[in-house]
Amino acid sequence: MHPPARVPITHPDRLVFPDLGITKGDVVAYYDAVMSRFLPGVAGRPTSVKRYPEGIGKEGFFQKHPMPGLKHVGSVRLREESGALADYLCPRNASAIIELVQFGTIEFHPWAARERSLEEVDYLVFDLDPAPELAWSEVTEAARHVRGRLADVGLRSFVRTTGGKGLHVLAPLHSGCSWEEAMGFSRGFAQRLAAEQPQSFVAKATKRERTGRIFIDYLRNSRGATSVASYSLRARAGAPVAMPLRWQELGKCEHGAMFGIVAARRRVTRLRSDPWEGFASLQQALRKNVWNDDNAA
Ligand code: ATP
Ligand code: MN
Ligand code: MN
Repeated sequence: MHPPARVPITHPDRLVFPDLGITKGDVVAYYDAVMSRFLPGVAGRPTSVKRYPEGIGKEGFFQKHPMPGLKHVGSVRLREESGALADYLCPRNASAIIELVQFGTIEFHPWAARERSLEEVDYLVFDLDPAPELAWSEVTEAARHVRGRLADVGLRSFVRTTGGKGLHVLAPLHSGCSWEEAMGFSRGFAQRLAAEQPQSFVAKATKRERTGRIFIDYLRNSRGATSVASYSLRARAGAPVAMPLRWQELGKCEHGAMFGIVAARRRVTRLRSDPWEGFASLQQALRKNVWNDDNAA
């Protein structure tokens, strides 16, 4: 590998998380420190970024298209759902990540597909969104339940904090899985869970129906959707990080924002092995119609 090109950083002392005294230079240093674990989750994928050029005290914005002035960040031309062709941001290396931070990026949100095979989904994401009043223990229990029900159909899954209120459970797929298959499977899965345990899960996005329950958001698996990258910082209070965990670690995890920028960096630099060992090479097939009434266990 070539050493990353030096990307000039302007205003490194600008406060990005004013309450914590965390500067733009600190954000660059964070991404530099975790780069080897972070990069595989975003490199070569269409990636939306959430930018806060004036820090999280001012409003930020999602951006999916390239902006003028980028020297290191690639792009990929793709057909949007509307039928129009458009260029999407597609970071391919460490310099691209740092350049996006130079442009005020805090959060990275990749597609579950790579630029060379945009019609092949390489993992499913179940985004568990709890009603605000739910205890964290119910969120972790729900994630374990999702893991178990996926295992029932032969799918191994992985869990991460989001840096926010919920958890993400991901299942890697074999190459060649279409968006339609991914979406059909995950919609069926979410609806089945909600039917089996209506007191715990809801598969509809309406906030009103979420009371006391967890919305199992399967819509992340549609073409054009994103989910936050593992090891991405979040532009939320406490500068939390979306952190991949081993399933055995979930019990020790106290809330979704448990890993702040400092703790996350410490954890990553001390990790001896990847908490998601095997994720990138696991080729898993989705069974067809498994969530139809007559097929489901
Ligand atoms: P939390 O655990 O607090 O729910 P989250 O990252 O899962 O954190 P969600 O609101 O559930 O947040 O969103 C799920 C994913 O959908 C995000 O990680 C992001 O990639 C994508 N997303 C959400 N809102 C937007 C938006 N306005 N524009 C683009 N993508 C979005
Ligand atoms: Mn969520
Ligand atoms: Mn969601």
